[in-house]
Amino acid sequence: MHFDTKVVRAGITPDPTTGAIVPPIYQSATFVLEEVGKDKGFDYTRSSNPTRFTLERNLAAIEGAAHCATFASGMSAVDAVMRTFSAGDHIVSSDDVYGGVSRLFDQYLSRFGMEFTYVDSSFPEKVEAAIRPNTKMIWIETPTNPLLKVSDVKALADLAHSRGLLLGVDSTFATPALLRPLELGADIVMHSTTKYLSGHNQIIGGALMTDSDELQEKFRHVQKSIGAVASPNDSWLILLGLKTLSLRMERHSSNGLAVAKWLEAHPKVARVTYPGLESHPMHHVAKKQMSAYSGMISFELNGGIPAGVTLLNAVKLCALAESLGAVETMITHPATMTHVEVPREQRIARGLTDGLCRLSVGIEHVSDIIADLEQALDQVQ
Ligand SMILES: *Cc1c(COP(=O)(O)O)cnc(C)c1O
Repeated sequence: MHFDTKVVRAGITPDPTTGAIVPPIYQSATFVLEEVGKDKGFDYTRSSNPTRFTLERNLAAIEGAAHCATFASGMSAVDAVMRTFSAGDHIVSSDDVYGGVSRLFDQYLSRFGMEFTYVDSSFPEKVEAAIRPNTKMIWIETPTNPLLKVSDVKALADLAHSRGLLLGVDSTFATPALLRPLELGADIVMHSTTKYLSGHNQIIGGALMTDSDELQEKFRHVQKSIGAVASPNDSWLILLGLKTLSLRMERHSSNGLAVAKWLEAHPKVARVTYPGLESHPMHHVAKKQMSAYSGMISFELNGGIPAGVTLLNAVKLCALAESLGAVETMITHPATMTHVEVPREQRIARGLTDGLCRLSVGIEHVSDIIADLEQALDQVQ
């Protein structure tokens, strides 16, 4: 099957009892045994549920993976990966990871004896220099949130394997429509299904994909032992969203490129970061491994915090909202929103400057998105 067909059809068969073309929602906590020791493949929804299994079959096919395990959030999917390690194990991580991921590493897992080193994984030599005798995995995000740094998945997979390590990739920003980390050698792919995969701001969810039977067995065991699994209802909503993934990513990407180019030419914008622009420092890597560049853009306004606040209060079509990857265009200003609690010096050192705005370009008509940004930028002094 081609990718466009897989998103609609893979792993989905008409319901055997009714012929329903849309898989039913098996909203049941438990499943009755026929006799002792004989079930129909399901026993208790924390470990197994037919709707979640359908989602996992569909997602595995879309990612080109042998296996998928889904979770109640992207964060619980990352946590499930980390629970396969032990106290004393060390992870080398991208420095610009999603804020919730570094919070999990630094405020929780480090208390249980895991160790983390953050490096700019756009440079494999920096990742290599951070490897220690107790390192077990390289964990990267590409493109990163919110600075859209791009890492070379194949180079890092080769590095990881030459040192006996795993490579895990948070591929939330790219989606399997644009990037296939497993084909490039990654061992684990993680997605926040909250974002592009479900696509309509309708659920919170996460997924892990792998070709390794051993890793999948561990992820299944975490699902069963911890219970942060995708609910039947959420699984069904994700399945519905996935059907248009291919179409949506085409539009997100074409809109993203057009908006990035328009912003780059605007006099009130100091800098635009978008992996699809030739001005992106790692455009050559993005071009090599991605088929298009998604809808995530960050840009720096001249005029710092006041300019950011003015712009965000002036937008009408663009929603002033955290989250990303949904059909609606959404805009955030890290300095006053997501990172308002980070001390300014620390924030600036991380590259989250005062005038930095992050745009998740939706699938509306591109002219309407640009017109809204234009009228809002007009109000910035
Ligand atoms: C949102 C996000 C997460 C966390 O996912 P949740 O579904 O919000 O728990 C992890 N990584 C990236 C890149 C994200 O954008």
